[in-house]
Amino acid sequence: MTLVSPTLDAGLARRIIEETDPFSTRQHLAYPSDHDGAQVHLDAYFSTEALVQIPEFASWLVEDVVLWMTAKDLRPQLIFAPGTDAVRVFVERLSKAVGAKPVYLETKPSGRFGNTIEGSVPTDASVLTFNLTSLTGGRCIGFRLPEAATHAGGNVIGTAAIALGTSPINEELRSRFSDNLYIAFHVAVTNHNPDACPANAPRLRPWQEANAEIIARLRK
Ligand SMILES: [Zn+2]
Repeated sequence: MTLVSPTLDAGLARRIIEETDPFSTRQHLAYPSDHDGAQVHLDAYFSTEALVQIPEFASWLVEDVVLWMTAKDLRPQLIFAPGTDAVRVFVERLSKAVGAKPVYLETKPSGRFGNTIEGSVPTDASVLTFNLTSLTGGRCIGFRLPEAATHAGGNVIGTAAIALGTSPINEELRSRFSDNLYIAFHVAVTNHNPDACPANAPRLRPWQEANAEIIARLRK
């Protein structure tokens, strides 16, 4: 795991990671956990859901995203994000801090995006797309979310995630958002297609199990 954001204090970042212990390695996880479309397998899980359980840590991370937006002079009218509980916690704070309105894309319990949008996207409204975690690399924050926001009528001016996984798509993400991409942590989570499971892979489990274990550990 690497701290990517130049403005996030290394000491604070270390505290966040040490105290939440959000990383589970040697996993074999189905993501999304249903079979309604393309699925990938993750070899680890990084739970940003755990990070936002601690209000102080969520605040530090929100402040860092705000610093980045200020430095880049990004003033979105909307923050467009998946509508999961953990993401909402973060996006409500971020929206308030920058005077933007949150808009949520339907997200199923499996982790898969739906089509319903909660909130309105006025034509050409400036949009920052956001997710806590983009574990399959740039697919989510680089493509799926911006495409959904654009399709709804918005004008995407930047994209952001607290944690970004490892994927060949990351290069495409960085070139597509060369000067308007925010990442706090780069995490060593790789993925493979279901037909390419390593011979020694552990039993395949839904990603939610690893996430729930990390959060349970936090509550002890
Ligand atoms: Zn596999």
